[in-house]
Amino acid sequence: MALMTPDQYEDSLKKRNPRVFMNGNKVESILENKNTRTVVEANKASYAWALDPKYKDIMTVFSPLVGEVVNRYTYLSASIDDLVKKAQAGTFTSEMLGTCIYRCVGYDALHSLASTTWEMDRDLGTEYYPRFIEFLKTVQKKDLSIAGALTEPRGRRNQKTLEWPDPYFSLKVVDKKKEGIVVRGAKINISGAYACHELVVLPQSAHSKEEGDYAIAFAIPPDTKGITFVCQYTPFSAERELSEDIEELGNPLFGQRETSMVIFEDVFVPWEKVFHCGETPYSAKLVTRFARTHRMTCGGTCKVGFMNQIIGAARLIQEYKGLEKTPHINEQLAEMVVLRETGRACGLAAAQKGVEEPPGSGVFLPDELMGNVAKLNICNAFWRVMALAGDIGGGLVVTMPSLKELKNPEVKGYIEEFYSFGSDEPTENILKVHKALQHWTAGLHGVGTWHGAGPVMAQKIMLQRIVNYDHEKELVKRTLNLKEKKKK
Ligand SMILES: Cc1cc2nc3c(=O)[nH]c(=O)nc-3n(C[C@H](O)[C@H](O)[C@H](O)COP(=O)(O)OP(=O)(O)OC[C@H]3O[C@@H](n4cnc5c(N)ncnc54)[C@H](O)[C@@H]3O)c2cc1C
Repeated sequence: MALMTPDQYEDSLKKRNPRVFMNGNKVESILENKNTRTVVEANKASYAWALDPKYKDIMTVFSPLVGEVVNRYTYLSASIDDLVKKAQAGTFTSEMLGTCIYRCVGYDALHSLASTTWEMDRDLGTEYYPRFIEFLKTVQKKDLSIAGALTEPRGRRNQKTLEWPDPYFSLKVVDKKKEGIVVRGAKINISGAYACHELVVLPQSAHSKEEGDYAIAFAIPPDTKGITFVCQYTPFSAERELSEDIEELGNPLFGQRETSMVIFEDVFVPWEKVFHCGETPYSAKLVTRFARTHRMTCGGTCKVGFMNQIIGAARLIQEYKGLEKTPHINEQLAEMVVLRETGRACGLAAAQKGVEEPPGSGVFLPDELMGNVAKLNICNAFWRVMALAGDIGGGLVVTMPSLKELKNPEVKGYIEEFYSFGSDEPTENILKVHKALQHWTAGLHGVGTWHGAGPVMAQKIMLQRIVNYDHEKELVKRTLNLKEKKKK
């Protein structure tokens, strides 16, 4: 079976040495640094579930490509059923982790690459698809973790790529050799990339024929010469660094969502791992196919799992406080459930209405309209769920003391007495659940949910492209028996 164990995954990282910086310091080991470790733990969990009989249906699938059972996060959807399972896996992994499944962006990028390399070969006679399939076979057989990098620093948003003062605001080909290409520039906000085996890179800013050097897609190991990661650093990073006991953090093992900037300084990519180079009309296809797949994931699947964590914490606090029969709290919880289920419905609808794209390619992508609707819907729904949870949680969500006070003999008694709500629940549990809600409602997840997979305007623009309103206009014309236009 082509499945790695969690320990094998950890060992595989020991053999690699990516160049990583955080908070002004070099990260000597991503396995040991307390913040980068959360990404390693999340990925390890994805390997453990695939081997667990309880979760194998959701986390594994038979791949005809390699004739073996593979981790779902390496698999290409070849049917609507696969897309539905993909959606379900997104919810499962996120509710179990309470953070990103860092293999997801890469998983979605694989779908976009398969579909678009197939189409480029058909239309242009290129040979990208067989190359990509060889790469995918290796990914599946070796059960590799793939991260996905699309977002670029970019210059002023009201200027075109070639008008930016720095040509490397977008990742650019600077040399083409017999053996491969050399790229320079950067990608930003990339989830968990230093802990992957292969970073799959898609273009973002190539549109016109003149922007051909920016029209690139490829795969590369994160410890390749010339690649540097500069990690995010937030109050949550500092808190984790300072904590002696991860149990006192809002999400002990898996943390908040970890990203980094990825800098490429004249990085060599061999041709066998280049999947797009210069064919500008197909750059936009790579982006939109990635976006519709990733928007189903971010909008209709993983935030459903996150909401489960938030709802669970709010419900526990309701019980601690003796508010089980309080109508407005029950209504708030019901509203949260409705928002969660609306998100889930959008994700499942995007999967159920999925199509083979392009026809004949064998690659199934979620419905474009529903993928975008799923993401748009969840942007607002997620803030609302956080607001409702904040109301139920009360001020303690943001005013709570450290759990360390429970080990401080001078203060322990006060904490146990005055933060017990008069319940028989251990005060430690009460504080931990409040800390979890602090992690959600006062953490990085609001803005993260809004921008991950693109800000709302990106989805609104896509909707305006997809919907032409002909059907709706025809209905009104027919219902009202409207006359033909006057002849001029
Ligand atoms: C937690 C998290 C994880 C992420 N993980 C990944 C990842 O793994 N891989 C990856 O590739 N990306 C990732 N992203 C990046 C994400 O896709 C981008 O953040 C998102 O597309 C928004 O881009 P931006 O951050 O540059 O914001 P901007 O694009 O600068 O958006 C800010 C505002 O400017 C507006 N705006 C931007 N451009 C224009 C324009 N041309 N005209 C008019 N208005 C404009 C936007 O609508 C928005 O209102 C992640 C982001 C987050 C927050």
